Amino acid sequence: MSLDAVFSALRFAAERHQAQRRKGGREIPYINHPIDVATLLVTVAGVTDPDLLAAALLHDTVEDTDTTLDELSLLFGEHVASIVAEVTDNCDLPSDERKRIQEVEAPFKSHPARLIRIADKTSNVSDIAIHPPPAWSVERRRSYFEWAARVVGAMRGTNAPLEAAFDAALAKARASIA
Ligand code: ZN
Repeated sequence: MSLDAVFSALRFAAERHQAQRRKGGREIPYINHPIDVATLLVTVAGVTDPDLLAAALLHDTVEDTDTTLDELSLLFGEHVASIVAEVTDNCDLPSDERKRIQEVEAPFKSHPARLIRIADKTSNVSDIAIHPPPAWSVERRRSYFEWAARVVGAMRGTNAPLEAAFDAALAKARASIA
């Protein structure tokens, strides 16, 4: 796969997430989040693999839109689809159980999946600290930040600069509710 596939993944994700906005109540287009995740991978983690960047851009399409893994496999190849599958929660489970499973399974994920997860948590923790979802209490934000810290903590040794970026985002997030 090459760079043009990265841009088709971006276009595909933008279309699928088109009607969605980030939770912060600022009407920020959802696609900004996968773009942030892919940007962190390029600029902080030093990723250049187009499959990994395409998977980063597509990482929430199966969980949050009607996209299927078969569709991703057909359009972007089995490798990209398998990375997205690894970072897709089982939506049939209640949210607490999904969170628990994410934490327990984190250390056993492939290297590409761990990179996407850490960048994902970095983006989410920053966004929630800067633009807290209006319905989220301080306690709910605190519990999200501490859960994200445990998930990333379970994947230490994946990519030092990316983990440092997460730590910086977490420190700001903790300070925002202190
Ligand atoms: Zn995400």
